[in-house]
Amino acid sequence: MDYLTILEDIYKESQGQPKIGLVSTSIPELSIINPDKFGIHLLTMNGQDFSIGDASEKFSIQSVSKVLSLTLAFSIVGEKIWERVGVEPSGNPFNSLVQLEYEKGIPRNPFINAGALVIADVLISELKNPKQDFIEFIREVSGNPTIDFNPEVANSEKNAGFRNAALANFLKSFGNIKNDINEVLDFYFYQCSIEMTCKELAHAFYFFANEGKTEAGKQVLNTSQVKRLNALMQTCGFYDESGEFTYRVGLPGKSGIGGGIVALYPKNFVVASWSPRLNEKGNSELGMFALEQLTTKTGMSIF
Ligand code: GLN
Repeated sequence: MDYLTILEDIYKESQGQPKIGLVSTSIPELSIINPDKFGIHLLTMNGQDFSIGDASEKFSIQSVSKVLSLTLAFSIVGEKIWERVGVEPSGNPFNSLVQLEYEKGIPRNPFINAGALVIADVLISELKNPKQDFIEFIREVSGNPTIDFNPEVANSEKNAGFRNAALANFLKSFGNIKNDINEVLDFYFYQCSIEMTCKELAHAFYFFANEGKTEAGKQVLNTSQVKRLNALMQTCGFYDESGEFTYRVGLPGKSGIGGGIVALYPKNFVVASWSPRLNEKGNSELGMFALEQLTTKTGMSIF
């Protein structure tokens, strides 16, 4: 497969697309990003790298981090985690409060904000130095010791994070947050502020396509566990647009409001894209277009 030519074709086609969507304004620090940044990186299982556009520029991975926090929590507590968070698509926006009331404080899945706050709570209970241990875990799975939080982005979100604070308080009222709310929110805002390039993101997610094993050979999750998390990305990775992403792209993946998307074809490749213009569901408009083109042109999708 000539991935470089395919990426070049996709890049050209993408440049001709109408500029739809706006950069997220919910985090002031992120609203200043150039909306027309665009990059894609594809990493094959035998370690070949293919890049196009702004694929080597750092961006805020935001909700993409929820897959990595879930990975660490799942690797520590195993199936018991599902007593506190579900595995069903939400069909609601990522920051919705209403469903939580109906479902008595058990979030539908770990990728909506409420679910990710519960996972943050689990990690705070399980880790000695939660933020430090989490970032070291990410550095290890991605084989990259330079990956870090962006404290300005974390603080910017903290200052504007009223809705997440409401969700955390609501969860606590149902007994589904065990630790101090401010500590949970602090961890959550920091995890969302992690920065990576498309290339780094593709490498960080390599183990999801490699039966749970990183490029350095560390078994992060067993094959059954990684199958389950890929299934969750497939059904819940794009909030109330998970069906649309599955229909158009046909790969498990995860988006973030920084405009990043990571998706993978097990045993074949990991691909990451970045374009900050978001559609009304909070997913990258051009990123979805680009990945749709990728699986259409290559015929490589899990379906
Ligand atoms: N930090 C963002 C928030 O909590 C993450 C949301 C996202 O990327 N979809 O609102």
